[in-house]
Amino acid sequence: MMLPKLLSDSHARVMRDLRVSLTDRCNFRCLYCLPETEEAANFYRTKFDPVRNPNPEKLKLPEWKPRSEMLSFEEIERLVRLFVELGIEKVRLTGGEPLLRQGIEMLIARLAVIPGLQDLAMTTNGFHFVKKGRALKEAGLRRISFSMDSLGQANFKRMTGRDGLNEVLAGIALAKTLGLAPVKVNAVVIRGINDHEIERLAEFARSEHLSFRFIEFMPLDSSRAWLKEMVVPGKEILERLQTRFTLKPIASANPSETARRWAFEDGRGEIGIIAPVSEPFCGHCNRLRLTADGKIRTCLFSLHEHDLKSLLRSGASNEQLTESVRAIVWHKEASHRIGKSDFVQPARTMSCIGG
Ligand code: SAM
Ligand code: SF4
Repeated sequence: MMLPKLLSDSHARVMRDLRVSLTDRCNFRCLYCLPETEEAANFYRTKFDPVRNPNPEKLKLPEWKPRSEMLSFEEIERLVRLFVELGIEKVRLTGGEPLLRQGIEMLIARLAVIPGLQDLAMTTNGFHFVKKGRALKEAGLRRISFSMDSLGQANFKRMTGRDGLNEVLAGIALAKTLGLAPVKVNAVVIRGINDHEIERLAEFARSEHLSFRFIEFMPLDSSRAWLKEMVVPGKEILERLQTRFTLKPIASANPSETARRWAFEDGRGEIGIIAPVSEPFCGHCNRLRLTADGKIRTCLFSLHEHDLKSLLRSGASNEQLTESVRAIVWHKEASHRIGKSDFVQPARTMSCIGG
């Protein structure tokens, strides 16, 4: 069978967006991602399902990969160059927490000059951004997304396991000053934990001129305690916001955009709702993921990963790597199975996959 030149799959989707994870480690312990704190245990113990989580105090963290298994900057650059030749236009650096990777600005400088790469972005919890932001921008970072689920000191700590709200707010302010516009901020909404802050977060987006994203909680937490009752559906978030604000839909020319976006009446800032659980957008998915240890994942919920690192380290030529990537992408899953009777949560969880 002749495989197509661009990275197309068997469902006629063309890949344009690559997420590159730089590490599986993180300095936060978000209860929807890497829960380990007593607060997280209390949440999972008492909230919805004491039977399924009888012993949540034994919240298990993943086993971190040794450094030797992580792709080096040289390896990442080589692979990104190949992906861009195959039609990838946008790269987002993520993790784990990407700012934990030493010398990350050197990687950004290498990637920023790749011909054909149109967008270089990063998703971060923002804790270290004040220290590193300027160097990242100077190295060529074009856009940044912060994660910030709460504007209350106590609730922020409860959700992330760390007392870091002030640092994140300072990071967001710096990103604006550096001109990394539009500065994006993501919040995962969990019923009973931060859903009472939806309006407050949207008001913050308006007053600070941010592009704010409300994200449905997905079954990718390391405690495997996700239940659909914890998900606040995107429709409910929107209805609440429409009660409080006059919102105008923003039309998008890009069918692969995951967020449905809305502008405030006065044009300051915008909100977006990402609803992969209640309104899957798999039909237009154009994303691939490269894990920190060099595995390709064709879906967040893939049950199989493809080991590009071994091929790379065994001396494969660019042609061999390219052919391998094409063949892998061809078999990208049609859609995730959340909510279906045959749904299986992937072995690796969000921080190890690269969100
Ligand atoms: N550490 C960085 C951060 O938090 O921004 C980057 C990695 S994090 C895994 C990337 C994104 O995934 C964050 O916006 C985070 O909120 C989101 N995320 C993590 N676990 C999630 C889950 N179970 N459901 C939905 N989003 C999740
Ligand atoms: Fe760390 Fe990001 Fe996961 Fe929170 S969401 S634990 S900041 S990787």
